[in-house]
Amino acid sequence: MKIGFIGLGNMGAPMAVNLTAAGRSVTGFDINAACPPTLVPASSAIEAAKGCEVMITMLPDGAALHSVAMEVMPELQPGSVFLDCSTVDVASAVAAAEHATTYAVEFVDAPVSGGVVGAEKGTLTFMAGGSPGAFEKIQPLFGIMGARAVHCGVAGTGQVAKICNNMILGATMIATCEAFGLADRLGLDRQKMFDVVSSSSGYSWSMNVYCPAPSIGPESPSDHGYKPGFAADLMLKDLRLSQQAAAATGAATPMGALATEIYRAFVEEEQGTGVDFSGIIRKFTGQI
Ligand code: NAD
Repeated sequence: MKIGFIGLGNMGAPMAVNLTAAGRSVTGFDINAACPPTLVPASSAIEAAKGCEVMITMLPDGAALHSVAMEVMPELQPGSVFLDCSTVDVASAVAAAEHATTYAVEFVDAPVSGGVVGAEKGTLTFMAGGSPGAFEKIQPLFGIMGARAVHCGVAGTGQVAKICNNMILGATMIATCEAFGLADRLGLDRQKMFDVVSSSSGYSWSMNVYCPAPSIGPESPSDHGYKPGFAADLMLKDLRLSQQAAAATGAATPMGALATEIYRAFVEEEQGTGVDFSGIIRKFTGQI
């Protein structure tokens, strides 16, 4: 199976390297980033796509996906799969899927959860949208780059699952952080707060696995000065995508809207850029 890989940034490079480490031949291209040495370098997206059975992309946004899809789709063999692992707006994923049908190419959107560490360790979770046949065909690649792949439905539903998950994550992280702020002011020891909440009905991934208070719970970015991890900027990106989708469908997401505004202010006005998204606790503990 000839694989092309476009977008060799923080996530794409280690994902592509894992494919080569598993014995796959991968041709790579990026407009900026260097091609890792285990890949065959291409001088353009079109060259990376020539003769590919699977084209994987890991790009910053819907505009980049649109531009790459327009360029490479005509170069792909009929019956091949275009697998986009980027996080993009639902409309861009659906548009790329429609474009793919013109060339008899199968489009699968499969955004990931697990961050750079998951990409390096090959433990990502993929949320995939596309035909069952295309999902089956690329299942072995998901097995190399990740620990789990969930087939969510037709093209676009992978992005839907991703933005819904991250809307919950953004809101629960803020709720967890503000509760720590309140507990501080009321004199409750942070470790006791964790001991109670992590085993009571307020528990969540944000509290139990990724505790925003340092030196409490499993090791997380709070123990390393909030070095990402999952940067607040990326959380803001995903929250904005959720709000774009909510506006397009008329869905009521007041908690998502408020979480978006709180992360916007953190990133744009409160030195939150480049900080892990759990660093938003500083806002509630008097550090900002
Ligand atoms: P990144 O900016 O490090 O990498 C993106 C790469 O795409 C860059 O190297 C850029 O040069 C390249 N690129 C952009 N336009 C291109 C084009 N037209 N042709 C070829 N290459 C092009 O970003 P990243 O952190 O690797 O994230 C990639 C995607 O994964 C994003 O959609 C992001 O939201 C998502 N994601 C990231 C994380 C994370 O923790 N970094 C976690 C989950 C999901």
